[in-house]
Amino acid sequence: MEKDFLRSWHKGYCEFSEWVLHLLKDYFLFVGFSIVYKRKGSCKQCGRCCRHVYLRDRGKLVSSFHECLLMIQSDRDLKQFNVKGVNEFGELFFACNYIGRDNKCTRYKDRPLLCRTYPNISMVRYGAVPKEDCGYYFVNRFTGKKVT
Ligand code: SF4
Ligand code: SF4
Repeated sequence: MEKDFLRSWHKGYCEFSEWVLHLLKDYFLFVGFSIVYKRKGSCKQCGRCCRHVYLRDRGKLVSSFHECLLMIQSDRDLKQFNVKGVNEFGELFFACNYIGRDNKCTRYKDRPLLCRTYPNISMVRYGAVPKEDCGYYFVNRFTGKKVT
């Protein structure tokens, strides 16, 4: 009984430490990327980023329904996303329930942080940038070059 308790306490402690380390790493990487890159442009309200959303769990794109369930359980803001399909790499993509027919967000004032910060500069870390037809783009502050 005592062993079981210690084992589960140790597991919980390790998972918590891993989560804190991940948050710290994300924060420092975000600061670093913000020094080098900046976001320019504005939203054209095409709605694509709300209809084709990739979700990351600790840096890794969600690729199974089990991971998806765990994420949704741990963050109520993600409940609005429904699985829409799987790409050629086995990664799931989602569509948001709140996108209107006019491509506008129906809960704009109350939208989650994820949406408020999109496109986030830390996407560069994963080699991801806004699509060509998105109104936003990233530039390198030092070279002035657009990130592609
Ligand atoms: S952020 Fe980009 S992809 Fe999303 S709605 Fe605006 S223009 Fe479209
Ligand atoms: S909450 Fe609004 S901004 Fe966020 S993905 Fe859904 S429709 Fe888009």
